[in-house]
Amino acid sequence: MEIKKAEFIISAVKKEQYPQNKLAEVAFVGRSNAGKSSLINTLTNRRKLAKTSGTPGKTRLVNFFLINDDMYFVDLPGYGYAKVSKKEKESWVKVIETYLVDREPLEKVVLLVDCRHKPTEDDVMMYNWIKHYNYKPIVVATKADKISNNELFKNLKVIRETLGMSKEEQIIKFSSLKKVGVQELINAIYE
Ligand code: GDP
Repeated sequence: MEIKKAEFIISAVKKEQYPQNKLAEVAFVGRSNAGKSSLINTLTNRRKLAKTSGTPGKTRLVNFFLINDDMYFVDLPGYGYAKVSKKEKESWVKVIETYLVDREPLEKVVLLVDCRHKPTEDDVMMYNWIKHYNYKPIVVATKADKISNNELFKNLKVIRETLGMSKEEQIIKFSSLKKVGVQELINAIYE
């Protein structure tokens, strides 16, 4: 599979603004700064389709991108940015959950975790939500170029254990900088 066309559709504030045409959706979630915008840009081979964040955690919007005219990529707000108030945190939880609950066209959720860090409580909660709502999680370890293969191997084990992944579930190693894992992720999305 190849991504030939990618087009921004809408930044939705409310559920009523989500596309209604029932094309399959794949959502992207992760902590602020995990590399989500870079990953979406890398997958779609576009430099600025998803903006890379100057101010992490600022966006509260659900962004829809039409891919190859046959599915949507859905960019959900980054969570867990340390410097926000409790109230702001609650508002993201709401935005993400509003989208995830009963979203019929949604099939898979790509969960990004920075390969250098142990997943946080928010990551674990996110992973559990994905499963709870019966979507298929695709776990991606981002910024793989930043550490040695040896460290990466160790960290993947920690990520797997912390999230409570089963043996059958794989983690895709990814680097936007070095274009590692791109085809593998596209295949997992289209599988
Ligand atoms: P977002 O907040 O999750 O959308 O994260 P961004 O895509 O904006 O990335 C956050 C920071 O990490 C930026 O400074 C990016 O340049 C950097 N970054 C993202 N992906 C990679 C990667 O694969 N390798 C390296 N070395 N840096 C990355």
